[in-house]
Amino acid sequence: PAPTIDFAAVIRTIPDYPKPGIMFRDVTSLLADPAAFRAAVDAMVAPYAEMGVAMVAGIEARGFILGGAISHQLAAGFVPIRKKGKLPLATIRVAYSLEYGVDEMEVHRDALTPGTRVLITDDLIATGGTAEAAVKLLRELGAEIVGACFVVDLPEVGGRQKLEALGVPVKALVAYQ
Ligand code: IMP
Repeated sequence: PAPTIDFAAVIRTIPDYPKPGIMFRDVTSLLADPAAFRAAVDAMVAPYAEMGVAMVAGIEARGFILGGAISHQLAAGFVPIRKKGKLPLATIRVAYSLEYGVDEMEVHRDALTPGTRVLITDDLIATGGTAEAAVKLLRELGAEIVGACFVVDLPEVGGRQKLEALGVPVKALVAYQ
């Protein structure tokens, strides 16, 4: 049996990054720990093993690391959701708000065929604005979104509720108040 891992114990917290007052949850320490990384991916995959996921959509950039491993375990494809200007072919874009200002994310127009069952992943959900942008892009392509999974949820800022209100069930390994 796989060892039981205390995920919160292997995620570092960096105070005042990227600015004063923010407690940054850093999953690079979890990714660097072989047993923790494997256990985290196993735990993220488990709920979706029988859900018919055909594609995993990873959000740039840490969602690529998790999404690659998750898609391998689910024998699914992988589709990158990227910051604007990085994808080489025709894309669709959506604007989303950051704490100050807006940015845009995009996906290739031909990334999915309508009706494809997609699982979204990223390292962390805070306000849910980033994941919501991914939901919009994928739905514009006709995806059927099975769920969204994260290592970390920050429930106080409401991202889980925002996604669940859009009909996207959310799972996370660790919640920080
Ligand atoms: P949201 O759009 O407010 O849900 O923010 C989530 C996005 O910002 C994700 O792509 C995260 O990688 C990133 N993010 C926000 N806060 C943190 C943090 O404390 N640690 C790591 N990533 C974060």
